[in-house]
Amino acid sequence: MSDHAQRRQAAEAARKFDAYLDARLTGNEADASALIAACPDDIRDDLQSAVSCVDDYVAYAHPFRIRPSVWERTANRIEELRRKRRFFEELKRRASAVWDEVTTDPIALLATQIGTRNQMSPVGGLAPPMLVLNRGGGSEAVARPIVDSAWRRLREQAIGRRAQEIVDDAGVTGPPVDLMLVARDLLLLVQVRDLGTIEGCLVTDGEVGAVFLNRGTSNRRRRRYTCAHEIGHFVLHRSSPVFRDSINDLYGQPGSPTEVEANIFASMLLMPPQLVPATIGHLRPSLEQADTLTDMFEVSLEAACRRMIGLSHWRCALVVSKDGVIERAVKSDLFESYIKADVPLHRGSVAASLLSGASPAEDPSEVDPWVWVESPADDEMPIREETRVVGDGYAYSLITFVDPD
Ligand SMILES: [Zn+2]
Repeated sequence: MSDHAQRRQAAEAARKFDAYLDARLTGNEADASALIAACPDDIRDDLQSAVSCVDDYVAYAHPFRIRPSVWERTANRIEELRRKRRFFEELKRRASAVWDEVTTDPIALLATQIGTRNQMSPVGGLAPPMLVLNRGGGSEAVARPIVDSAWRRLREQAIGRRAQEIVDDAGVTGPPVDLMLVARDLLLLVQVRDLGTIEGCLVTDGEVGAVFLNRGTSNRRRRRYTCAHEIGHFVLHRSSPVFRDSINDLYGQPGSPTEVEANIFASMLLMPPQLVPATIGHLRPSLEQADTLTDMFEVSLEAACRRMIGLSHWRCALVVSKDGVIERAVKSDLFESYIKADVPLHRGSVAASLLSGASPAEDPSEVDPWVWVESPADDEMPIREETRVVGDGYAYSLITFVDPD
């Protein structure tokens, strides 16, 4: 056989071998015997061993890793990411432009612009799950608190898992959580702007979004909380195009379910379940523990207290007062007694005495339960109170029922 004929045969064998390889790698059956029979004699042994190698690979390593559906999914994901990145670049450009336009409401303008853009490039199948549950009515009055508490726990767990996934996906390895890393990973633009009375807002087309934080908020920890809250709206409620949050939405009494959820999310994102020290929740709550959380996670004292109380196995609550009047309270699951808002602090409370100029005590004090709660269930059981006055007339009181044992 001439050199030329040999080379041609070898090339033909290589081509057949490639076809065999392709067929096996994409999960199809291929006939090796026909391939080997058609092969020139002098390379038959080599081809036979190459075919065995391919068969071994397909049998032991390959099938679990690369299937056609996986190829397809991967390609789709890459395409989706490319498309989102294009949208994101466009959003960035528009977000900067709207603030230069002469308009009374740049946020609404941006929402209109990106809303239109999204309609021009329709995408489907990415509707985020809505976590706002419909509780319905009709439950027995007695069962209600139990149902409410169980429902709240479930919802918190679901949101906590989601926040933890997002933190992990973004590559956050330890506290404090780098929110810019999280935002980048979610294709969220974060900008600081003049927002008037709005503390923070989110504009989204359902796929990418922009978070604006008020330039007037100088407190870094408060800004972090607001940013985490807006990220929460993006993750949980992005079927709505615009969210505008006032201070009350963020820090006041629970409002709409979406605001409650965004606040839970913010707390879980800033203090993710797997990064919070295991002692929090088990040890008797204290402001010292809350301080540990504030330093570790760069959150405000109130955010730290709320997280600690949410995890607590104790009957405890945080009561926030301003200028001597109770503004709001957050209670642990086991704390059933009612704390009245919009009433002056009881004269017997540590908070009242601190506000009237007394010097803070070294240790938490025990006070009568009716100082803090309406008609306590067991009036023999005192309450342990720790209060810190934090400025602007605000005082944070951490109260815990002292169990008899
Ligand atoms: Zn909100």
